[in-house]
Amino acid sequence: MAEILSVGEAMEQALALLEGGDVVAIPTETVYGLASDATNGVGVARIFEAKGRPRFNPLIAHVADLAMAERIAIFDPLSKRLAEAFWSGPLTLVLPLRPGNGIHPLVTAGLDTIALRMPRGFGGELIARLGRPLAAPSANSSGKISATTAQAVAADLGAKIRLVVDGGATPVGLESTIVKVEGNSVRLLRPGGIAAADIEAVTGLKLQRGAPAGIEAPGRRASHYAPGAAVRLDAQNVVEGEALLAFGVRRAEGWQAAAALRNLSASGDLREAASNLFAYLQELDRSGAATIAVEPIPFEGLGEAINDRLFRAAAPRDKLD
Ligand code: AMP
Ligand code: MG
Repeated sequence: MAEILSVGEAMEQALALLEGGDVVAIPTETVYGLASDATNGVGVARIFEAKGRPRFNPLIAHVADLAMAERIAIFDPLSKRLAEAFWSGPLTLVLPLRPGNGIHPLVTAGLDTIALRMPRGFGGELIARLGRPLAAPSANSSGKISATTAQAVAADLGAKIRLVVDGGATPVGLESTIVKVEGNSVRLLRPGGIAAADIEAVTGLKLQRGAPAGIEAPGRRASHYAPGAAVRLDAQNVVEGEALLAFGVRRAEGWQAAAALRNLSASGDLREAASNLFAYLQELDRSGAATIAVEPIPFEGLGEAINDRLFRAAAPRDKLD
């Protein structure tokens, strides 16, 4: 059962858990977040596991200050103006990732953009002490409403996590507003704790609403993260010239003929497999093989989200879900 500690007493234990690649529920000004070190793939996998999320959708990365944000992402002048106006606070900016950013690909679901925000209060202090960004979606089971008290977090996730940091009821009580600068305009991707009118007052621009024509929200397309290679699921054997994405101890028949091989987890650990998924798919794709054969992966726990992502990678490229 999770321990509940007040913000005044939780700092050292929260840091130790994050350093160890574990998750911690923390108060922010919006809602409670389920946080892990955004550079630690196993830590990020534990977020999906604890929430029971059936999909690897991109998470918001939380930073301590603008300098940390600029090490992770590339700011255009308008995004910088918005950060200066609303950070720390409930505004999330979607920005291009900077090469060598250190963020684990599970945070961005393999996208080349990242959602960033700077939280107020305990979360900001924790990130500054850790010296690394935190990935943190809302601290609730998938499909349930966001928790705004430590007690609500503990009632929902208490059996799955070690620590809930109690900062009282969250002041905003709504998720952050998400925007993305596109050239000379700003698009509202999700309404939230900062009113559209307040953003418009800073930029002098009317917010664009809805997805731009022809572009799907991240993770929505069946073929999102489609490798160049074809993907063949549930492979019991390897055809000469195929690359092999393996899992566990037992190899598919004919594995010796694989043009390239990566094992998501030799010990069959789904957390490790989740943390390796995006990088290994990309590596096998770069091997130049025309097809990536994927060994069967169990559907329990994180296996559901892993299979969901592989299913999308294998979907016909022009088919939308
Ligand atoms: P949460 O579960 O509160 O962390 O929600 C994250 C939200 O941010 C989701 O609606 C995502 O679709 C959105 N998001 C995260 N990363 C990106 C990105 N790179 N581009 C667009 N939206 C993003
Ligand atoms: Mg949520």
